[in-house]
Amino acid sequence: MYYKSLNGKATEVNFKVAAIKGLAEDKGLYFPKKITPLPDSFFKNINQFSNSEIAFKLIAQFVGDCIPSPILKQIIEETLSFDFPLINIEPNVAALELYHGPTMAFKDVGARFMARCFSYFNKSNPNKVTVLVATSGDTGGAVANGFLGVKGVDVIILYPKGKVSDIQEKQLTTLGQNITAFEVNGTFDDCQAMVKKAFLDKDITSKKQLTSANSINIARWLPQMFYFVFAFKQLANKSKPIAFAVPSGNFGNICAGMMAQKLGLPVKMFIAATNVNAVVPNYLQTGIYTPKPSTQTIANAMDVGDPSNFIRIQHLFDNNLVSLKEMLFSESFTDEETRTALKYLKDTFNYLADPHGAIGYLGLKSYLKTNTDCQGIFLETAHPVKFLDVVEPLIQGKIEIPDQIKEVLTKEKSSEVISTYAELKSYLLS
Ligand SMILES: *Cc1c(COP(=O)(O)O)cnc(C)c1O
Repeated sequence: MYYKSLNGKATEVNFKVAAIKGLAEDKGLYFPKKITPLPDSFFKNINQFSNSEIAFKLIAQFVGDCIPSPILKQIIEETLSFDFPLINIEPNVAALELYHGPTMAFKDVGARFMARCFSYFNKSNPNKVTVLVATSGDTGGAVANGFLGVKGVDVIILYPKGKVSDIQEKQLTTLGQNITAFEVNGTFDDCQAMVKKAFLDKDITSKKQLTSANSINIARWLPQMFYFVFAFKQLANKSKPIAFAVPSGNFGNICAGMMAQKLGLPVKMFIAATNVNAVVPNYLQTGIYTPKPSTQTIANAMDVGDPSNFIRIQHLFDNNLVSLKEMLFSESFTDEETRTALKYLKDTFNYLADPHGAIGYLGLKSYLKTNTDCQGIFLETAHPVKFLDVVEPLIQGKIEIPDQIKEVLTKEKSSEVISTYAELKSYLLS
């Protein structure tokens, strides 16, 4: 399996090279050259397969011969060591809970898979790799946790000071070992800009192999295909048209869902639900793509003003807006609407959502209004406990803190505050 750059000016590379480089040398995102659908029988007989078997079938062609099958199977087995329950909320509405992993964010699966691939690659690679990642909240924690102790890999995380929740911050800053956290005076966009600049900086790249663990990295992004098929497997009634609502920021997760569809998963519609950072819903309406600086919201992992994976989605639809709109519905929601939905879910169905999941629910309900024949599934992407300051006042109650979070809260924060790119650069060169 080979990957091409979506900027079209780089050499084609295999899975290993694409994962280690993160971005192609022409700064384009890597994309599989060829996608071979799985046989219909795979989806018809989905209930016969374990989650690990499903995941192996979905991802094997994209890894190619870079990792021997028995090792890939083991990587998958270790990656998927928790549940992905589909919870029925009301008729035709179910929540796919993706937050039962070690950092309670859906990014655990991608991060754990990527880290294990790197651990395998580094057995035969004497050079250190530095994973440089900007986070608006959950990526950093999942990446830090996934890569903790992986030999040959240093992880540097940049996060916007004061703009991530307390629990998220603890998850980023308390691990030590090969994980370093930088607290940036600025926004998530500033963090992302610094990371991008470092990737382009020859002073650094001539000395260090940098890679990213954001969803632009294929090894982080592609495993997210699994979720959509796990949801399908759990549906009692598979005969209705299926609509997936995905709370979206960088649009990696929803794009992975579209990859699963390319492989044969029956999906009628994808719904990209966003907070007020509404670049994509606006684009679908006007046909004009206008990136903007991000606005801070209570669903902070989606505070993205220029979603990096959208170019992959456009590529999947041959850059054709008309065909894209046949498969993608998108709507944005305010913090006020999100709070109301969160409270409604708790009061009416006794279902506790987090702000991101609540936005997914809102997007799904909006679509189902005129598409009453569908079975809707919204993705619950983070545990509500990670947003205590938003959720507890709304439900007027306490959320029980899960053990993996309790543990991290007792640890000491260790981070360095930086304001400029020069500070990051000097650290990377030191
Ligand atoms: C990252 C994240 C999202 C957005 O996912 P994308 O793949 O960037 O669209 C949504 N919810 C939570 C909790 C996240 O951490």
